Amino acid sequence: MPLHLPEGKRLAVSLSPDFDAQSVWLGTFRSTSQSLMSRGEFGALVGAPRLLEVFRRYGITTTWCVPTHTIQTFRSSVDAIVESGHEIGAHGVYHEYVPALERDEERRLLELQIRQHEQLLGRRPRGYRSPALDVTDNTLDLLEEFGFDWDSSLMGRDFEPYRPRMVVEVSQEEGNTFGPESRVLEFPVSWFLDDFPELESFKGSPLMQSNETVLARWIDSFNFAYERCPGGAMTWTLHPQTIGRAHNLLMLERFLDHVTSFEGVWFPTLSELFDCWHDEGSPAPTGISTTSKPAKLERTAP
Ligand SMILES: [Zn+2]
Repeated sequence: MPLHLPEGKRLAVSLSPDFDAQSVWLGTFRSTSQSLMSRGEFGALVGAPRLLEVFRRYGITTTWCVPTHTIQTFRSSVDAIVESGHEIGAHGVYHEYVPALERDEERRLLELQIRQHEQLLGRRPRGYRSPALDVTDNTLDLLEEFGFDWDSSLMGRDFEPYRPRMVVEVSQEEGNTFGPESRVLEFPVSWFLDDFPELESFKGSPLMQSNETVLARWIDSFNFAYERCPGGAMTWTLHPQTIGRAHNLLMLERFLDHVTSFEGVWFPTLSELFDCWHDEGSPAPTGISTTSKPAKLERTAP
């Protein structure tokens, strides 16, 4: 795999929050209900600081994917994230429902969010995560056009980054045809490693699960990746308004107690991970290796 983790690191773990706050209700659920707005407010003013504190205690640096609506509505919460040394990635303007966007509107909103990141935070985001993890046929092309290094919205792998391809021709009888590999590097996500559908409560959701069920799934996923995918990377998506609830935060801490008991686990930002990727044929930097041995592998073989 063309991912070259630093010397002594066996597995990269990205606990990457989607800091949607009120925008997820506005853009994905298309509601301005005051009740839902208050849940977004909880995420910004209570959940995010709690999550930052957990990250500080466990020595975790990560990438927060933030709609520009959140930056403008809860500026001090976003400033605290930046001041704590985390990266900010793009995550839409108002958590817009991307699959419904015509190409021109998708381009306009990408252009707008880049401009707002530059104006509000003073830097251009290197990566993008689609709101609600869904894209159009145009998304990868547009991300390339705007010079993004990475995307983290697709699910074509689990524990390794990859160059994603669009399906350009669909045929029920003769099979589908892929287009070329994208220049944008994909850090794959999964609904199974996402707190929102599993732990959040919202109208019509049949999915709310017990913390024990979710914790067991997360630990099994980590154990599998640690043993069988050395040199790989895995990405969780966390939502401050969900994981920041007391019972969920305690579950996260139990998960982190498990993960941090293993040697060679690395918590990079997604852009740091991007910088560890070297396509086949291009020279890897010296002094890096993926051959470190696990210290406690025998205890956790899945
Ligand atoms: Zn989101």
